Amino acid sequence: MPQLPMITNLMRPGGKLMLALLLASLATALPRSQVQHNTYKITTGNFAFFALNPNLLPVSPSPVKTPANHFEALALPKTTPHPAKTLSVPIFMFHHAGNAPPGADPVRRDLTVSAADLDAQMKYLKSAGYHPITQTQLFKALFMGGGLPSKPVLITFDDGYLDNFSQALPILVKYGFPATFYIISGRVGGRGYLSWEQIKVMEKDGMDIGSHTVNHQDLSIVSAADLKHELGDSAKDIGAHLGHPVYWFCYPSGRFNARVLQVENEDGYLLAATEKWGRKQSSDAPLALSRYRIRNTTGLEGFKNILQLS
Ligand SMILES: [Zn+2]
Repeated sequence: MPQLPMITNLMRPGGKLMLALLLASLATALPRSQVQHNTYKITTGNFAFFALNPNLLPVSPSPVKTPANHFEALALPKTTPHPAKTLSVPIFMFHHAGNAPPGADPVRRDLTVSAADLDAQMKYLKSAGYHPITQTQLFKALFMGGGLPSKPVLITFDDGYLDNFSQALPILVKYGFPATFYIISGRVGGRGYLSWEQIKVMEKDGMDIGSHTVNHQDLSIVSAADLKHELGDSAKDIGAHLGHPVYWFCYPSGRFNARVLQVENEDGYLLAATEKWGRKQSSDAPLALSRYRIRNTTGLEGFKNILQLS
């Protein structure tokens, strides 16, 4: 059971003491094997306890390599670079990792990169001297004169699927690579999707968390009210759970227009990823980053071929 000073700490943020004590005592009353399989660990300040969650997998696949709290407050500078700063940074777009379920339709299969392929692709990046970067690094390089490591690349996953935690995260952590996970905030905790606790663990493991709207709507055709909801409320929801603003965005199906860009600016997004094929990223179009889609059939050779493109 926790000691008294730790309980005092827990009371400060939200007065959830009774719930915490209940869950903590419940967890300690369970046999050890049951605790391991049916609970997950919550850490609040220096106070940790176990909460029941039969749907959740064990967390933290390996030691954290990046700082636990890597959030940094950023804003577009008043004057943007002239001429525009252009960088060659391949950004990879993944969706599912692991095996598609039996009977999966062609779209689902196409969106799924096997753990073996993903591991081989990440291993190749490491051995060939590529350096996966964070969104903050890319933003600073475009707008603040920040430097980048040699052969920079950026790894992204769309939609916030559960297998991003169970399959992709252990591989990324193994190679010490950061990646960005674009979350559909309205689907968090749903069947097949990440939970907020898993998203927080991923951030602690050095991953960037971005928004992918509330409901995955085509932003180029929604009403003004829906546009505001999809952009603004997803940022608010994710930001409230992570405890800091969300700057990174990704368009459902890559669709956007001038009206979307306007609202994105109002909501504080700094970088947004499209599905436009290419690797040239520009300070003139930070809300229209180009990406390379990685498919089920891409494999290691296809991945190497993409890296050879200019
Ligand atoms: Zn999507």
